[in-house]
Amino acid sequence: MRALVLEEKLRLSMREIELPMNMGPRDVRIRIARVGICGSDVHYYKHGRIGPFVVNEPMVLGHEASGVVTAVGDEVQGIAPGDRVCMEPGIPDMASRTSREGHYNLDPSVRFWATPPIHGCLTSEVIHPAAFTFKLPAQVSLAEGAMVEPFAVGLYAATKAGIKPGAMAVVIGAGPIGIMVALSALAAGAGQVVISDVSTEKLAIAGEYPGIHPFDIRGGSLAERVADLTAGWGADVVFEASGSPRAFENIFDLLAPAGTLVLVGMPPGAVSFDVVAAQAKEARIETIFRYANVYSKAVALLASGKVDLKPLISASFPFEQSIAAFERAAEGRPADIKLQIVVEESAR
Ligand SMILES: [Zn+2]
Repeated sequence: MRALVLEEKLRLSMREIELPMNMGPRDVRIRIARVGICGSDVHYYKHGRIGPFVVNEPMVLGHEASGVVTAVGDEVQGIAPGDRVCMEPGIPDMASRTSREGHYNLDPSVRFWATPPIHGCLTSEVIHPAAFTFKLPAQVSLAEGAMVEPFAVGLYAATKAGIKPGAMAVVIGAGPIGIMVALSALAAGAGQVVISDVSTEKLAIAGEYPGIHPFDIRGGSLAERVADLTAGWGADVVFEASGSPRAFENIFDLLAPAGTLVLVGMPPGAVSFDVVAAQAKEARIETIFRYANVYSKAVALLASGKVDLKPLISASFPFEQSIAAFERAAEGRPADIKLQIVVEESAR
């Protein structure tokens, strides 16, 4: 199987690699169409590890994929060859206690694409459980299908926030995930969303969406801006999506009494925050790890036209130019939100 392989830190190759292709009765076989490059893929490329997950042997990258089904196992229902699909990249052990208690995304034995030692999906074909494969309606392109994975993070954050209609939300960080969170907050009923960053380019892209108000924190105080917009009340929900330890300084100044803080970004290490400031507002603090049970909802929002992720696809590269795509992603151009690799050209 031809694949983009991370041989070791800073060394990629396009080459043949043997991948497990045994198909069970509840699996489907999928020809990969498009794969988005995620910050985590780039992090493995540049550093060879994320926390305890270390690339010790060659690993196929990629986990944000769409494709076309070519075969289904005997027990599969509702998915047929020819169906266009996107795939949830983490396969938990559904018999584990964590899964049985309703938290399959936290299952310690989850096999997640392109998290060492599990191979990713930047290859021509994969076998995947039907239960984690989602049909795309005709109006959702395969390019959009490959955006469902990062969108799922935003949707899960908005779900855990418990956003009420008309709520005021703040998103700290206008990277790909921050923008996905802002769009999800709007889709969940937020009346307005303020998104903050220090990148003029990213704020401009986020600000193209009606309802999203960009705020450059180099130009003033975010807390003052939020106070202005809410007559001093504060935001009902604050999403921390930058992962910057500095974002935690005075973060509760942004929040309305009994508001909710959702921690989405992953800081590089431990951070401290003002507990008493949180208590004084009885802040509710939620965290997320990846997502659970949001893929079909994400697809439904794309199908309805309520959320348009197409403006976030900054560029796409042919499969054979995957290494160039990763080099560009590693540059971190400020106007690049999502880069995609077209694995199968003929697939729409
Ligand atoms: Zn991702």
